[in-house]
Amino acid sequence: MSRTFYVNGEFVAEADAKVSVLDRGFLFADAVYEVSSVLGGQLIDNDAHMNRLHRSLSEISMQAPATDAEVLAAQQKLIELNEIDEGLVYLQVTRGVADRDFGFPANATPTIVMFTQKKNLLNSPQAKTGIKVISVPDIRWQRRDIKTVGLLAPALAKQAAADAGVDDAWMVEDGFVTEGSSNNAYIVHHDGTIQTRHLGNEILSGITREAVLRLCGLTQNKYIEKPFTIEEAKNAKEAFITSASSFVMPVVSIDGQDIGDGEPGETSKKLRELYIEIAREKGTFSHVQE
Ligand code: PMP
Repeated sequence: MSRTFYVNGEFVAEADAKVSVLDRGFLFADAVYEVSSVLGGQLIDNDAHMNRLHRSLSEISMQAPATDAEVLAAQQKLIELNEIDEGLVYLQVTRGVADRDFGFPANATPTIVMFTQKKNLLNSPQAKTGIKVISVPDIRWQRRDIKTVGLLAPALAKQAAADAGVDDAWMVEDGFVTEGSSNNAYIVHHDGTIQTRHLGNEILSGITREAVLRLCGLTQNKYIEKPFTIEEAKNAKEAFITSASSFVMPVVSIDGQDIGDGEPGETSKKLRELYIEIAREKGTFSHVQE
């Protein structure tokens, strides 16, 4: 069955899902995006993703191309038409189509595109084995808090990981881990304290990160928001990543060195289970007290 895509208000077949070569998303990566997960046909934490979309748009001086209600209705229709029980909804907004020139066009209409991907999120094989990562220099621009589609550096990082025979890359700047190529990075200390980098322009403020830090209250893990080194990660009890498409995913090796006993750690497993339980039950984490 071919997928239905959403392009500027229309639901169309993949073959008709097209934007102009003059679209500024294509020419300048002048575009922002969001990825929300779907479990049991239900969007997870979508309000938080929409809030972040508005922040990204505002940071690059763009207007929202549709109301939140219109976007939600389109997301839900795509889930239905494409029969997504478990998977992702991708949403991208660009500054629109205009003849190539760096400055913002005066009258461009934003382009909005959405599509779905079926994905085995709950029983992903990687969740059972954990993932292996390498470290790479963080060569991205300085506004990683904006979720732009300028993703060449993460694409190079992921390919470097694949070439090295591992699953992903953690990016390092000034001696400290910033984040994973498309996820936030965490270590768990031997006393159970969870550590992840503080928010700022250097990393994306992950929606799953926000949820998981809230869950630490329920699992009675303390957490600190502070940068850590690859050396600290190698000596940690456990490590894991979070993102909308991986939830909580254990990391079992860094640069060829096992973390702990080289198996997914207890804290990572517990947080993953709890995340999935609340996501399926409530579809949001906003009610979880920190
Ligand atoms: N950091 C980066 C660089 C990412 O690309 C992503 C996922 N898009 C994340 C963190 C995780 O964010 P979220 O939990 O909102 O998916």
